[in-house]
Amino acid sequence: MKFNTKTIHGNQQHDPSTGAVMTPIYQTSTFAQSSPGVHKGYEYSRAANPTRTALENALASIENGTHGFAFGSGLAATDSVLKMLNPGDEIIAIDDLYGGSYRMFTRIYEKYGLKFHFVDMTNPENILDKINSNTKLIWVETPTNPLMKIADIEAICNLVKGKNILVAVDNTFASPYLQRPLDLGADIVMHSATKYLGGHSDVVAGALIVKDPELAEKIHFQLFAGGGILGPQDSYLVLRGIKTLHVRMQRHCENGKAVVEFLANHPKIDKVFHPGLTSHPNHEVAKKQMKDFGGMVSFTFKSGKQEDAAKFLKSLKVFTLAESLGGVESLANHPTTMTHASIPAEKRAEKGITDDLVRLSVGIEDIEDLLADLENALGLL
Ligand SMILES: *Cc1c(COP(=O)(O)O)cnc(C)c1O
Repeated sequence: MKFNTKTIHGNQQHDPSTGAVMTPIYQTSTFAQSSPGVHKGYEYSRAANPTRTALENALASIENGTHGFAFGSGLAATDSVLKMLNPGDEIIAIDDLYGGSYRMFTRIYEKYGLKFHFVDMTNPENILDKINSNTKLIWVETPTNPLMKIADIEAICNLVKGKNILVAVDNTFASPYLQRPLDLGADIVMHSATKYLGGHSDVVAGALIVKDPELAEKIHFQLFAGGGILGPQDSYLVLRGIKTLHVRMQRHCENGKAVVEFLANHPKIDKVFHPGLTSHPNHEVAKKQMKDFGGMVSFTFKSGKQEDAAKFLKSLKVFTLAESLGGVESLANHPTTMTHASIPAEKRAEKGITDDLVRLSVGIEDIEDLLADLENALGLL
C-alpha cells in the first residue's frame, strides 16, 4: 500500500460490531466480561480502547512501524521513552531541541540521575565525543525549531549501529509524509500529534512508533503502568486528522515554498530559515531524507529590531499570532517572547534565536491571501 492510501486505510478495519466505516468513539472506561477473565480483547480503557487501538494501528502504518502508541500529549510520549532508562544512563540530545523536551530533560530527569549531553548534530560526528558505555539513547529532532537545522538521521543511526544505543527521532515538524525515521534506521519515532497529525488545532496528543516487538512491549508497559494514555474522543480526532495528512502536507509544502520565495526576495527581510533553500547549510541532507520541505519557515528583519517583529506580528490578519503549528490555519509566533521564552536570553543568543526572529506555520489557505497578508504587514514597518 502506498503512503497516500495508508493514511486512510492503513491497518484499519470497519467496526466489527456494526460495520461502521469510521471507527466510532468508544467512550467507555470498562468492558463487560461474559465470565471472569473472558472478554472480547478489551477490559479497561487504560490498557486498551478500540478507538485508541485504531489510531495506534494507523500510526504504525504511516511510519512503517509494527506498533504505535497514543499518549495524552507529545511530552507524555517523550516522558515514557525516558522512563525506560535507569539512573546513571546517558542521553545525547540535539542542541536545538523543542523547549518543552529540554525542560523535561533538565528539570525532571536530571534529578533522577539521567545525564544529558546537548550536541550540534548538523555534523553527526559530533556525537562520537560524547558516547561512552553509559550512553543508552540518542534524541534527534529534525528539522529543528525554530532554526530549521537538519540532522542526517541515517548517518547518526549508522554511527551507533551495534552499540546497544537507541535512536529516537522527534518527527513532529516533518510528519511521516515528508520523512520516515524507522526506514532510515531509527528505533523510535515520537510525535506531538497535536501538530500535523491532528492537523486542525483541536487536540493535544502524542505518539510513539517502533518496529521491534520487545521495545513495543516495554513502551506498552510504560503507557499502561504509567497511565499517560490518549482518551477515545481525542484518539478519534487524531485518527480523523491522519486521513487527510497527505493532502494537507502537500499544500503546506506548496504554500511554504511560495512564502519562502516571497520572504527571501523582500527588501525588509534579512535571513530566511527553511530546509528547501539551496543556501540552507544542510539542504542536501534534507533533500536526501525528506520528500519535500514543509510549511515551517523562520526569518529575521534587516533592521534586526524586536519592535519590527512585534509590529509585524500585530499587523497580520490572516496569520494568527499563537503558539503551536501544523494546523490548517496559518500561525505566526515570536520565539523570544512565546515558545522559547523559557530558554535563558544568553542561551537563546548562543543558538542564534535573535529577538527579531519570527516563525511561521504556513497553513493551507489560498496562497494569494497569505502573501497579501505578509506584504501588508511588512509594508507598515
Ligand atoms: C509541540 C511539540 C512537542 C510537544 O508536544 P505536546 O503535544 O505539546 O506535548 C514536542 N516536540 C515538538 C517538535 C513539538 O513541536
